[in-house]
Amino acid sequence: MNGIYITLLAVALVLFLPVLLPVALVQHSLYLSRLRALANRFHCTNCERILGLESLRLADAAESDRVAQLRREHPGARLRLNRTLHAICANCGQPYTFLEKENNFIEEVR
Ligand SMILES: [Zn+2]
Repeated sequence: MNGIYITLLAVALVLFLPVLLPVALVQHSLYLSRLRALANRFHCTNCERILGLESLRLADAAESDRVAQLRREHPGARLRLNRTLHAICANCGQPYTFLEKENNFIEEVR
């Protein structure tokens, strides 16, 4: 009986994949658009300078380095990561977390 449900689930997934995939891509695109728009108008709480897109690139690079370091320290482990670093002020280095629901940055607390 379980085999039937798994088969039906697999068939449903294949049938809906052409719908689910574009929806996921559009949602991610909207997320990035909101993040970039906020970075271009948000003033750093530390130095008052607008964060800008460079702050997002700095955070992406720092996050990539962190994940690479974790992979080196724990080879073969399945990592479940929750990203909290979304922007780093290019002027003073203040890290920020993006709150999607509030469409706002808060100072990152680690
Ligand atoms: Zn700053």
